[in-house]
Amino acid sequence: MSIRPLPRRPAPLPDELLSSWITRLAVANHCSVPELCGYLGFDGEHPPETMAELLGANIERLCAIARLSTGDLKGMLLARRAGVPVECMSWSDFQHCPTCTREMPGVSLRNWRYAWSLICKSCGSELLPVRASPGNERQVSPRLLTRTVEGSWQLEQAYRCGNRRQSRRVDLTMQVVGTFEFELQHAALFSQDRHHRYAMLAALYLGMSRPMLAAALALRNDPAAETRLRVAFPHQRKLLVRLARRVADLPSRRPRRKK
Ligand SMILES: [Zn+2]
Repeated sequence: MSIRPLPRRPAPLPDELLSSWITRLAVANHCSVPELCGYLGFDGEHPPETMAELLGANIERLCAIARLSTGDLKGMLLARRAGVPVECMSWSDFQHCPTCTREMPGVSLRNWRYAWSLICKSCGSELLPVRASPGNERQVSPRLLTRTVEGSWQLEQAYRCGNRRQSRRVDLTMQVVGTFEFELQHAALFSQDRHHRYAMLAALYLGMSRPMLAAALALRNDPAAETRLRVAFPHQRKLLVRLARRVADLPSRRPRRKK
């Protein structure tokens, strides 16, 4: 039996998610997304985003209907890197590019889903949270921005080409950061509060590049964190002793002069 391709097939954008493209295909062909999903042979009513969700589908038939090569199809799916203890990919849209979505409403690219993505790879615009609350558009200081960019680069490196040791270091650094700042837990990487997310990436940068100094400075500002550290890392006693020495060696803070 011959397979008839869909009558209208808007071309997928570079790096577009399969789910985003299927939604656009449904609009172009005047049908609902669940209807199209059923026609394409998917299990549920939602378009798949990972290879695992595609299991069971007739990929050959799907590619014939959509006029897509299997390579292109794989390039539109999300894949989690095995062996990385830190989740760096969001399984739903948490940020978007205002320029791209203005030109093509509803579009969603894969690179927007990564925790380290700050800039749209397609047009270079700054990515914004999808549910930014009004009044949360405070200016980001140049210093915070520089550290955020460094932190996002380190996170990407650890994820893409880092070995298990490097990934473990990111994980450990994030645990230490969370011990000092309760707000900066792993989920902060995908926070809808831009300052919150940037602070997490900046703390990651400081913790990865100067771990002892960063921890000692944080401990000087919050001496009670020592107890929390001992509870969180009971097997790192020697390291915590070294850290305490480092805190003692720090120059004491000068009180700010009143003008
Ligand atoms: Zn863009």
